[in-house]
Amino acid sequence: MKHFILPCPPAVKALLFRFKEAGIGAYPVGGCVRDALMGITPHDWDVAVTTIPEETMSLCKTLGYRVIPTGIAHGTVTVLTDDGPVECTTCRTEGGYSDGRHPDGVSFTRNLTDDLSRRDFTVNAMAAELNKDGQTFTVIDLFSGQADLKNKLIRCVGDPHTRLTEDALRVLRGVRFAVKLGFNIHPDTLAALRDCGHGLSRISRERISVEFQKILESPSPARGAKLLSELGLMPHVLPEGISPHGTGNLRSLPPDFALRCACLLWQMPLDQLNENIRSLKLSNEISHAIRALSQGQIPPDISPLSARRLRKEYGTLALPLLLVAAAHGAETSALQELVASSESAEDCVCLSDLAIDGKTLMSLGVPKGRAVGEMLSALLEIVLSNPVKNTKEQLIKEAQKRISYNRKP
Ligand code: ATP
Ligand code: MG
Repeated sequence: MKHFILPCPPAVKALLFRFKEAGIGAYPVGGCVRDALMGITPHDWDVAVTTIPEETMSLCKTLGYRVIPTGIAHGTVTVLTDDGPVECTTCRTEGGYSDGRHPDGVSFTRNLTDDLSRRDFTVNAMAAELNKDGQTFTVIDLFSGQADLKNKLIRCVGDPHTRLTEDALRVLRGVRFAVKLGFNIHPDTLAALRDCGHGLSRISRERISVEFQKILESPSPARGAKLLSELGLMPHVLPEGISPHGTGNLRSLPPDFALRCACLLWQMPLDQLNENIRSLKLSNEISHAIRALSQGQIPPDISPLSARRLRKEYGTLALPLLLVAAAHGAETSALQELVASSESAEDCVCLSDLAIDGKTLMSLGVPKGRAVGEMLSALLEIVLSNPVKNTKEQLIKEAQKRISYNRKP
């Protein structure tokens, strides 16, 4: 039996050891084991335990841990350790999936094998047991996950068609892990991804959207989009499809969902764009960013003034817009520099940054109402053309000039 050294933080190891001393099974499982075996430091350590949640709670309390009953119904309690929170979830088996998205029943089990068998892909279905030395681990790998890691393969646990029909979200998860890890998809699993995609029509838009975001934020977003299209999954994600040359140079963009999604939807007709955005069920803020970035217009001339105008129009989205346009072949590097230096100079590009406000204008004699807004806009124009004019004294002078001009018969 090979003993593995995994980058498990000491306080998590100590927790596992306390469970072991109490005669209870507690196994790091899923993503953390996969990542650790790949040499990637896991972002969290999920632990499968053989106690039911109430037992997990009382054991941990007896051991002096603070415990949060995060999702008792699903078997999850969160144990707070010196190395962060650890989710301890009771081993589970799932009943049938007559609706293709939710198990008919989840039952707790004391059997780790059952818990591993319900997991989606072999590389996600490994657990690790802390050895008696309290330091090393034995990897529990019932479905050849280690061989698939070595061969860089995404492969379903069990029969792919059965597993992807049970829960169609796994179809998108398959694509997600392939692009996140840079793995190929086993031919039988690939065929099932193609055959079972229609099941996504029963999955909530929100869950689909979360997977799509992870696919686009992966190191291979273009491959992700290509897989979605080739496997016939795109209509379930973006009902109106993507722009003809949507993938552009997706990878050149930072791993930010709004930017990469805007790149896919670049210059798409507005009604189609809106339909796509609506179906992704995103927050208003992200929807707005995608709309602005994908519809954005780049000024034809390159000058500090056009950089400031771009900032006025798009705010903090000005630079991202230039990046998205560049991913579609526009030459924007000079404007990018100008926008960046305007941002660091904190040039005033909006009414609220003007060194004068409406109240002051009224005290100078501008009549309350529309005239105030018009005067502020005129002053902003001056400041956009000449940023050094954004001082109270200069703007009062400019305002007075205009007031007296307007008063002339
Ligand atoms: P990441 O680091 O991206 O979070 P992860 O492997 O932890 O990767 P999660 O989506 O957090 O991915 O899921 C945790 C684990 O739960 C998976 O590794 C897998 O074993 C199991 N799992 C999650 N969702 C499903 C599902 N729909 N069907 C089967 N198993 C699942
Ligand atoms: Mg996870």
